[in-house]
Amino acid sequence: MERVYNFSAGPSALPEEVLKQAAEEMLNYQGSGMSVMEMSHRSPVYDKIIKETEENLRKLMNIPENYAVLFLQGGASLQFSMVPINLLTRDKKAAYIDTGVWSTKAIKEAQKIGETLILASSRDKKYSYIPEVQNIPQDIEYLHITTNNTIYGTRYTSLPKTDAAIVADASSNILSEPVDINKFGIYYAGAQKNLGPAGVTIVIIRKDLIGREPENTPTMLAYKTHAEKNSLFNTPPCYNIYMVGLVLKWLQKQGGVEAIYQRNLEKASIIYDFLDNSELFTTMAEKKDRSIMNVVFFLPTEELTKKFLDEAAKNGLVNLKGHRDIGGLRASIYNAMPVEGVKKLVEFMKKFEKENR
Ligand code: PMP
Repeated sequence: MERVYNFSAGPSALPEEVLKQAAEEMLNYQGSGMSVMEMSHRSPVYDKIIKETEENLRKLMNIPENYAVLFLQGGASLQFSMVPINLLTRDKKAAYIDTGVWSTKAIKEAQKIGETLILASSRDKKYSYIPEVQNIPQDIEYLHITTNNTIYGTRYTSLPKTDAAIVADASSNILSEPVDINKFGIYYAGAQKNLGPAGVTIVIIRKDLIGREPENTPTMLAYKTHAEKNSLFNTPPCYNIYMVGLVLKWLQKQGGVEAIYQRNLEKASIIYDFLDNSELFTTMAEKKDRSIMNVVFFLPTEELTKKFLDEAAKNGLVNLKGHRDIGGLRASIYNAMPVEGVKKLVEFMKKFEKENR
């Protein structure tokens, strides 16, 4: 059986080269006589893997020395709790912008910890845009945003203006476009879209934000614990970090973040240009806020949507079903999706339109 073009929102397609290298190294990693899965996280061989992975992420994202890079577990969802536990003490306030289900989940966790302001929401129009925020209060500990909204296909193209630390959930667009990390207090992402397999979460945190947690904070939930031990306080998700390392090396070979960004723009515009001129398919996200990672679109009836999914799958184009909250269709086109996959999808959509208009 041939490999398919996999448009899954996450876990998502990985570069084929990376999977092949992992397969080659599976039984005997670089002459160690064992798989990376089997080695001690305290061994010199593994130490090199985790250090190199961090170094390569620092290079690709231009992460300065005053930021720590942590490899944690618990997904982006644990960050919804860790952020307020570490930064929002009882008498302080945090602010959030609500751009969808993931922001809402982050807000819910913050509300359990301290005073949580919701400065803006795009809920009124089914989260189809990024809301403007004016007058961000001065006395907040941080402002939390979701840089790319996986379900609705929206993304931030400019950041809100504030002196407070911006905390960003970048799960679905980390490394897809250049970002100036200096503009963020914390930048976090689950790995399973642009970075590797599920099971490791990348947390990039400005060092002055580490160590602010209350004394009774459980050890594993304090950023300090992981920062002081370079993510080796306990056993890290060793194999996943190794896989992230392979993906980062692949990304370097592609020319780095700027090069992949140009390719991502090209891929997104191939689909959006078709959708904008279609007489059958419609879109939802406001053009100015469109995601270049998740393209959300619709057909006029449930019946046609089902037919589309069935026929697409027969053509090797899979996982195009929209999120259950909004229905319709969604093509997730993360870094590892080649331009050819997107072209094949659009060819299929053209044919489908002709046959079903
Ligand atoms: N934030 C965003 C933007 C996401 O897309 C997702 C997962 N799809 C999450 C958070 C939750 O991530 P996890 O499953 O790693 O907790």
